[in-house]
Amino acid sequence: MSVSNIQIQASCADDHDYQSLSVDDARKHIFEKIKPIQEYEKLALREAINRILAEDIISGTNVPGYTNSAMDGYALAGDDLPTESSHTYQVIGTAFAGAPFSGTVASGQCVRIMTGGVMPAGSDTVVMQEHVERIDNMVRIGNGHCPGQNVRQAGEDIAKGSVVLQRGRRITPADLGVTASLGFGELSVQRRPRVSFFSSGDELRSIGDGKGEALAKGEIYDSNRYSLYGMLHRLEVDILDMGVIRDDPDSLREALEHAANTSDMVITSGGVSVGEADYIKPILDDIGDIDFWKVAMKPGRPLTFGHLGDALFFGLPGNPVSVMTTFYQFVQPALHYLASGSHEPVLTLRAVCSTAIRKRPGRFEFQRGILSLEEDGTLVVTKTGQQGSGLLTSMSQANCFILLAEDCSDVEAKATVTVQPFSTFI
Ligand code: AMP
Ligand code: MG
Repeated sequence: MSVSNIQIQASCADDHDYQSLSVDDARKHIFEKIKPIQEYEKLALREAINRILAEDIISGTNVPGYTNSAMDGYALAGDDLPTESSHTYQVIGTAFAGAPFSGTVASGQCVRIMTGGVMPAGSDTVVMQEHVERIDNMVRIGNGHCPGQNVRQAGEDIAKGSVVLQRGRRITPADLGVTASLGFGELSVQRRPRVSFFSSGDELRSIGDGKGEALAKGEIYDSNRYSLYGMLHRLEVDILDMGVIRDDPDSLREALEHAANTSDMVITSGGVSVGEADYIKPILDDIGDIDFWKVAMKPGRPLTFGHLGDALFFGLPGNPVSVMTTFYQFVQPALHYLASGSHEPVLTLRAVCSTAIRKRPGRFEFQRGILSLEEDGTLVVTKTGQQGSGLLTSMSQANCFILLAEDCSDVEAKATVTVQPFSTFI
């Protein structure tokens, strides 16, 4: 057979491929196809942590609700402060947090006040106790104080009627505190997405009982389901792990149909690379509306995305590092959008690359790196040795992706690169 008869198929080793999609375009296409979930539930405040807020939180009160002291000291009128030398004031009462003073402060008078105490009528200024000289029932106050000092104004943190938290945000520990400070006992949140996932491949063995059962030649343990479980477990999603499905059309069809009927999103790994895709493609085409993409990225080039009925479908490549990379870059943002209708900002940092990195232009590379802080405050990143898409330990060792854009070529040692810390994926 002459060479001209050999069909050259796109492979993971190719760099330039003008039919492939950029990472950004793939993400755009994904978001365009997602209809955010429109179902809500009411939860007690504590239960709502990490969930997506389904309503704007509008404050019915000022926080703080009354003007109060920020210090332990003496409350008096700012107009009454001495402008030169010092002045003595009569202490006419006390104002503790929770036990206000009911009288009015006149000129030449002050009230002993504790942090959080309501500012008495006639006062607008607090002088710290360390800055006064107490003489029996009097205090001597020097000059240099400012009218209005050491006082927290009513509504300073939250004004009555203002939108404090907007719907669509993921509820943080601070948000729980803020809503508690407004007296909310429960919050309306979006329903969690339901996600089904399975691994496909005849070579896959499920893990045994911890004794490390011997594998037959050509077999490997299924690891993708475990890294997928780990990544999904950290998110607010309900998970259905469907195990390993054989490369058999009937089993695959049955598994996909079941997953689609019970989930908002179906994730598979394996079976979408060139050659393998021939096998799953007719099934997906038959029961869904699915695109087979070649994304200009490394690792994770073949990616399958679309709908199976109403469920979103991601067919991730089989290689373990590709699974994690495509999950973090596409699936996780898609899940957030599905749950919230909003995009989470992507947080990246700039770091000095400790060694040179070889890179050919053509694909966006997500190399695995270890980010550390030098004593002088410089962020330095070092890539984890070999970068093969099957070498999952590179993900274990790493704490960030080194982002090398499509058009980027070799990186010199000490050059500045963009990194995406794994801690931003939690
Ligand atoms: P595939 O995309 O099915 O051609 O798989 C690509 C590579 O990933 C092959 O070496 C597979 O053996 C491997 N692989 C596929 N699925 C898994 C899995 N669940 N766990 C570990 N490796 C896998
Ligand atoms: Mg396979």
